[in-house]
Amino acid sequence: MDLVILNGRVITFDGPDAEALAIKNGMIAAVGSTAEIKEIAGTAQVIDAEGGTVLPGFIDSHVHLFQGAAELDYLNLYGAEGVDGIAAAVRPYAESRPDDPLLFASAIDYHAMGDRPITRQDLDAAMPDRPFAAMASDHHTVWANTKALEMAGLLHGAEVDEGSEVVMAEDGTAAGELREPGAYKAVLDCTALGGREMLGLMTGANPEPPATSKERAVDKAVMLRGLEHCASHGITGLHNMDGNFYQLELLAALEEDGDLLCRTEVPMHLKHTDPLDRIAEAAEMRAAYKGDMVWSSRVKMFMDGVIDSRTAYMLQPYPNTDSCSAPLFSPEHFDEACTRIDAMGLQIAVHAIGDAAVRQTLNGYEAARRANGPRDSRHRIEHIETVHPDDIPRFAELGVVASIQPLHSPLGGFFPPYEKGYLLHDFQYEHAFAWQTIRNSGAKVIFSTDWPVVPVDVMPTIQGAVAGVDLPDHWPDQRQTLRDTLASYTRDNAWVEFNENRKGRLRAGMMADVVVMDTDLESVAPDQLGAARPVATICGGRITYRA
Ligand SMILES: [Zn+2]
Repeated sequence: MDLVILNGRVITFDGPDAEALAIKNGMIAAVGSTAEIKEIAGTAQVIDAEGGTVLPGFIDSHVHLFQGAAELDYLNLYGAEGVDGIAAAVRPYAESRPDDPLLFASAIDYHAMGDRPITRQDLDAAMPDRPFAAMASDHHTVWANTKALEMAGLLHGAEVDEGSEVVMAEDGTAAGELREPGAYKAVLDCTALGGREMLGLMTGANPEPPATSKERAVDKAVMLRGLEHCASHGITGLHNMDGNFYQLELLAALEEDGDLLCRTEVPMHLKHTDPLDRIAEAAEMRAAYKGDMVWSSRVKMFMDGVIDSRTAYMLQPYPNTDSCSAPLFSPEHFDEACTRIDAMGLQIAVHAIGDAAVRQTLNGYEAARRANGPRDSRHRIEHIETVHPDDIPRFAELGVVASIQPLHSPLGGFFPPYEKGYLLHDFQYEHAFAWQTIRNSGAKVIFSTDWPVVPVDVMPTIQGAVAGVDLPDHWPDQRQTLRDTLASYTRDNAWVEFNENRKGRLRAGMMADVVVMDTDLESVAPDQLGAARPVATICGGRITYRA
């Protein structure tokens, strides 16, 4: 044997639990009691789990790796309130980054200035001397100070794509708020990475002009840092949710260097503004990338925006407004896209947050099934923050997978609950972030973070799902069991990538993707789960992280 793990509480997700396992040639060779595995260990390297939980490696089924990796280096404004709070964070950061053309921050709160919108003047007060911009956690909005707006050529407004907006103040200058990528792209172009990390999300196209070899080296180093970060949290697999050929090339180059620490799937990103013939690129990606470490077999689309900026597409107008927002794809266009992608045997994943967006996405999957006949398609809907009760049974009926991010819900404790009567109607709460209700309907539920919307750190997300936080009474309790949560983060994330017979369970003959935790998760108080840490992460039999 090459490596054995002994004295663990091994959750196999394949029949009974065990104590130990043995790894040879990148595969699991045996699972059993510590005595049984010791007997066959030979000269293998030994990891003593010391009673800690041993699991299939975590798979984060919704991440933006390139952006997440880039943001490890940005100023993080999570929790910063008011001009003073932001100034206290950005000023020392600026001193530590004398050469950055633009100071860039992540995770600024929409409500950092209380009840009024953030303005360029607020950011000028926090950082008067240098260009400074900050992105919301959900990546749908960026705020920029005057110098950054000037640098990006946006101070006097700009023509931007439909659905994006450079918000203008009454005096005819930009207010500082840049809604959606079409509006904030010009700011990102000024960052150290030149916005290359966002292309997979914004356009699905490659850098233009093509990245120089120096830029490629920088980008590879950024990606590697992100992968190391993921491995340190017990992650062995990632499903990227934005994509372009460039990211696939970077990942393949990392694999060649022996630096690809997590298996990574990258989709083709089809924008609503793209001609449907662009779908051919997804087939090219699938043909070119089909390894166990880097592969592509999926198309990602967006149906709507987010609740905070009222761009999520709703069945009923937002409270005290006459706006439901609007879908990015028209129904006919979307049905046609789904039908064509499904006919190619590709998987589909669609961002849908508003109840109307979820319904229209289910309709598209249903249209594809009608046209092409039923198949084991495992199409996914990402987020599902609100859903009409009539649509819940349709997930199981159509075999649609509910892809949920526990920390996006206020129940997870990372974001504050909405004020009553402000973003959601009272009747919508019962089916907002309805994890357990959807699970109870028989639908497959998978868990992820949407890093960098929330940190990629696995255990805080697990704590958010299992323990949750106490919310006002109009929020229903959707807490998960620990076993369901762990399964949704391992076994079921392997299943959704059609790899249920190769990974996601600990059994002889499966890929040796394993995480060893520092504690027995089943004896930890639910509200302490977030503090548990991996002691070892193993991907394909290789130790990718060791505490
Ligand atoms: Zn996402």
